[in-house]
Amino acid sequence: MTGDIFLEAGALGMPAVVIHGGAGEFGRLSSPAQLAGLEQDLSDALGAGWDVLDAGGRALDSVVEAVACMEASGNFNCGRGAVATSQGTVETDAAVMDGMSGSFGAICAATWPDSPVRAARAVMALGGPAEGPILLAGAGADRFCENTGLAPRVPSSLCGEGVVPVSRSGTVGAVAVDRDGHLATATSTGGRLGKLPGRVGDSPIAGAGTWADDRSVAVSATGEGESFLVAGFAHRVDWCVTQGAPLSAALGDALASVRSRGGHGGAIVLARDGRFAVAFDTFAMARGWRGRSCSTVRPVHRDENGPADAQT
Ligand code: ASP
Repeated sequence: MTGDIFLEAGALGMPAVVIHGGAGEFGRLSSPAQLAGLEQDLSDALGAGWDVLDAGGRALDSVVEAVACMEASGNFNCGRGAVATSQGTVETDAAVMDGMSGSFGAICAATWPDSPVRAARAVMALGGPAEGPILLAGAGADRFCENTGLAPRVPSSLCGEGVVPVSRSGTVGAVAVDRDGHLATATSTGGRLGKLPGRVGDSPIAGAGTWADDRSVAVSATGEGESFLVAGFAHRVDWCVTQGAPLSAALGDALASVRSRGGHGGAIVLARDGRFAVAFDTFAMARGWRGRSCSTVRPVHRDENGPADAQT
């Protein structure tokens, strides 16, 4: 079930990291204990991303660590917790993008990596946008991961092959700006529950579910990926911002385009000065943000604490 687009925004300064743990309906199904666990997972992921930034590290490393933390938890639809395909198998997608260099790396329909975001990071180290490849799929992605020495996947006891979770959150993502003012983003997902093997959504596609450019913003999306793909979601956010739109208005515009194509979900966006916005039209979206003087996690609801300045 979905409603109006819920917008939330604020200013964190530099450095800063913003994460999401998926948009969807999971909040309706979760027990208080499960929600407390989700809140802890989000706090851990924020901490992993923040520690990199606080030590003077790069935004790119921050988003990889935050996302890898959620992949390892088994409680999100990514990495160890990825949902099953219609065949009961697991295929993961992930992407990273560096706003400073424009480098991008991604894998899709991969079965090998324990940490798909680290696999995406390894692909980024190959040829880059000029020479390629920037995206490896299926058996080729698995071979690359194995040959690169990346750890093989450890299925979660909570979900994945053969076991459909009753309560979970979704796709994960992170956007960060480091103390030098460089942006980065990462997104990781198991895709849609019961998807056809070989199906790939928006998450590993540059400009759809994942995008970072120091000249504009960093974006990570979650939701019904086919609609985000055909809407060119993250590129649309970028374009709106470069035309002068506030971050929340840019997210709202791009999400409206997704809705007009029958899709629902949400996204996070961050600018170089630490302004950020969140938008979603689902019942719930797990999210959190951290800067020098603020650390917040909101595991589920739309407006439990009221929106911040939605004009940011
Ligand atoms: N966007 C992801 C996909 O379509 C799924 C999600 O975010 O829940 O693969």
